[in-house]
Amino acid sequence: MLEATRRLVDFHRRRLGLDGVVPLHAPWFKGREWEYVKDCLDTGWVSSVGAYVDRFEALVAAAAGTRFGVATVNGTAALHAALTVLGIGPGDLVVCPTLTFVATCNAVTYTGARPLLVDVDPATLAIDPGKLRRLLADWRGEGRIKAIVPVHVFGNPADMDALNQLAAEFGIAVVEDSTEALGSSYKGRRCGSLARLGTFSFNGNKVLTTGGGGMVTTDDEELARRLKHLTTTARVPHAWWFDHDEVGFNYRLPNLNAALGCAQMEQLDEFAARKRRLALVYRELLAECPGCTVFAPPAFADSIHWLNAVLFDDPADRDRFLEQTNAAGLQTRPCWRLMHQTGAHGASPRMADLSAAEDICARLVNIPSSPALVEP
Ligand SMILES: *Cc1c(COP(=O)(O)O)cnc(C)c1O
Repeated sequence: MLEATRRLVDFHRRRLGLDGVVPLHAPWFKGREWEYVKDCLDTGWVSSVGAYVDRFEALVAAAAGTRFGVATVNGTAALHAALTVLGIGPGDLVVCPTLTFVATCNAVTYTGARPLLVDVDPATLAIDPGKLRRLLADWRGEGRIKAIVPVHVFGNPADMDALNQLAAEFGIAVVEDSTEALGSSYKGRRCGSLARLGTFSFNGNKVLTTGGGGMVTTDDEELARRLKHLTTTARVPHAWWFDHDEVGFNYRLPNLNAALGCAQMEQLDEFAARKRRLALVYRELLAECPGCTVFAPPAFADSIHWLNAVLFDDPADRDRFLEQTNAAGLQTRPCWRLMHQTGAHGASPRMADLSAAEDICARLVNIPSSPALVEP
């Protein structure tokens, strides 16, 4: 058995006994979830409008350090709406890292644009600004490059100053895929506030959950107003007449889900403390473990550590670790299939050299990261 397997299994079995599975990321309901959800049922406000939606938007905007938040039915819808209000559409290219969850590229495709897949920096796991600069300077391919969507992978911030600088130089918009990074900061500024638009997900496996849900965050009042309109069927406000002045989306977050979200947001500080503590515990536990290191972001990052990641020197050890830990009841997972290798986005235009992402993908494992696993 690998030393890393032995240490990780010992740690979890000592805490949890011999039975049961340790999930990769489980939700945690220790606040006022029952009370708020019951309130929705008692009052009948369960659907697409309600006071919890407004409150949830304000809570998330405050946590992201922006003036406005617009709730959506999931994180993919948040990304789609964000790209749409920026006018991204057919003929456009949107820079996406090849190392991301498929939703980033799917959202780009829904607008009629195409993802332009780029490599990542091993130091951040996010878009490599140096390689992107060369691509933007030399781009002779078809289509206009209209936006960059940096992804804060596993909650670790991308190098946003470098990416924003590039975007400014080349006249390109930036939308943060901050879906995994609620509570993370970059140089003291919150993820979700580092570009014109930020996006979040509150799926069951994310930092906190509404069952399913999402949010777009921004400081731009006009964009916030456009987003609200577009995600609520573009209905012209009136007490009873129905009129819609463009083809909008039904991307509204139900009040029932927002109620859960309000209760979860009240615990964000505790989740953050627990997740930062767990990251430290893992770093110590696996320190000096031969052949592997726990990923640690650069000093500019204060990561929420949504998912902790271990990098093995040897891909064969990574595969053995996956087998051994899963056999022992620990849910560990390799990272996503790289976008340029998927059936969904394999034909997308791409940077020739995606070697850093390929190297990381062969050596990385995510390990159990639920807030319940440690005391803060
Ligand atoms: C979860 C996630 C999304 C999409 O969120 P959903 O709520 O599942 O639609 C988008 N991008 C990344 C990187 C994610 O991890």
